[in-house]
Amino acid sequence: MSNRTFTMIKPDATQKGYTGAILDQIIKAGFAVKAMKWTRLTKEQAGLFYEVHKERPFYGELVDFMSSGTIVAAILEKDNAVADFRTLIGATNPAQAAEGTIRKLFAASVGENAVHGSDSDENAAIEGDFFFSKLERF
Ligand code: GDP
Repeated sequence: MSNRTFTMIKPDATQKGYTGAILDQIIKAGFAVKAMKWTRLTKEQAGLFYEVHKERPFYGELVDFMSSGTIVAAILEKDNAVADFRTLIGATNPAQAAEGTIRKLFAASVGENAVHGSDSDENAAIEGDFFFSKLERF
């Protein structure tokens, strides 16, 4: 069981002005913010971040979307962080996401789905390291 996960508020959600409301849900669910930054990925950086999906048919769309606007990246802490955060955000496709989840509330489609949440402890560490130096996390 890990106590840290990594998230991004994706370009669709920052563009629609949902950043504050999404952070509010995350904090009210008991996650503590250990690192946070507002930034924008280049296509190359988005391609690297999602390299594990390189062979998937939606890879090009995903890279274009994730580099299309600003994001908020964060490292979050809570007991059982990875699994609890996946529960909080809901299914990848908002149409299948449970009521009250962040994707159900704020996402428009399977591609533009408002938030990212790491799927394992190992990936949470890799993804946090992608964005944050040791000086930027607490
Ligand atoms: P997650 O772990 O719930 O984020 O889902 P995945 O690891 O399966 O996919 C990573 C991301 O790729 C998703 O969050 C979506 O932004 C995107 N994605 C997944 N499936 C599709 C799809 O069918 N079409 C498009 N355009 N994007 C997708």
